[in-house]
Amino acid sequence: MASFQTHIAVAAVGSLTASAVCLETGLLNQPQALALFSLGILAGILPDIDSDHSIPTRLVFTILSFAVAISAILIFQGQLSLLYLLGLALTGALFVRFIVYALFARMTEHRGLFHSLPAALIFGLGAFSLAYYLLGLTLNLAWLTAAYVSAGYLLHLLLDELYSVNFIGLSMKKSFGSALTLFSHSSWFAYLLMYAALGLAFYLLPLPYGLVSA
Ligand SMILES: [Zn+2]
Repeated sequence: MASFQTHIAVAAVGSLTASAVCLETGLLNQPQALALFSLGILAGILPDIDSDHSIPTRLVFTILSFAVAISAILIFQGQLSLLYLLGLALTGALFVRFIVYALFARMTEHRGLFHSLPAALIFGLGAFSLAYYLLGLTLNLAWLTAAYVSAGYLLHLLLDELYSVNFIGLSMKKSFGSALTLFSHSSWFAYLLMYAALGLAFYLLPLPYGLVSA
């Protein structure tokens, strides 16, 4: 599999290209392009959160714990005294960083569900939901956010697959096919749930304006 540095570098090139195109065509302004550029890089290391104790895993859970602390402060400000508010934020952050992280590490298997095509789409739709419903971004901008996350994620999976091909002898390593999985018999129920969730999400979520006929 590709190294952490390779994943970062390829994700940065891909994300930069996408942001340049979006800036040129007027789809994004400069701050938005910068934000989505960073998000694209993060998405490029996201699949490896299933490898326990890896740099991406710790990074993602650290960011997540900060996000929980900030959300707790935003939600409960004005309802609690400052001391309780900070205590709640700290408890939430520590809970995510240590308890949820430990549970997650125990439940996931490297190159299992997270290295699959449906997972790339689910993370994209998750990003859409956060951007549209929580952050209140416009419909098209929220879908663009989803595209950055799914594309960055897919780029990672493709890179993992490429690294399992031995170009000199053109032979495949054993890991070939384990990064960009469409379905696995051994965890058929989890895949069934993922495809069901995707189907439901595509049915329920609003489409971008260009695709909706007036
Ligand atoms: Zn990987």
